[in-house]
Amino acid sequence: MCPHTPPCPEPKAPDREAAKTIISHPEQGWSLLCNGVVMFEDTGELLPDGNCIAPHRPTDLKLDLHVTAVKRSPAA
Ligand SMILES: [Zn+2]
Repeated sequence: MCPHTPPCPEPKAPDREAAKTIISHPEQGWSLLCNGVVMFEDTGELLPDGNCIAPHRPTDLKLDLHVTAVKRSPAA
C-alpha cells in the first residue's frame, strides 16, 4: 500500500512516527501517516488496529481528556 521508497515503517514498528504524513489537520490537532497511524499533536497515537498509544511527551494527560481536546477544536 505504501508508495514510498524506502517504504514507511509499519504501524507496529518503533519508528512508526517516521512514516510520511499523507493527511494533516493541524487546526484539529491530528495527522494521518502513510502507515495508517493517526498522530495527535500531544504525541498520542491511534493505530490502524484500534490500539491507542498514550501521549509520550512529559505531560500526563489521560486519553479521555485527549479525545475531548480534539473534539472541541474550533471548526475553522
Ligand atoms: Zn509511505
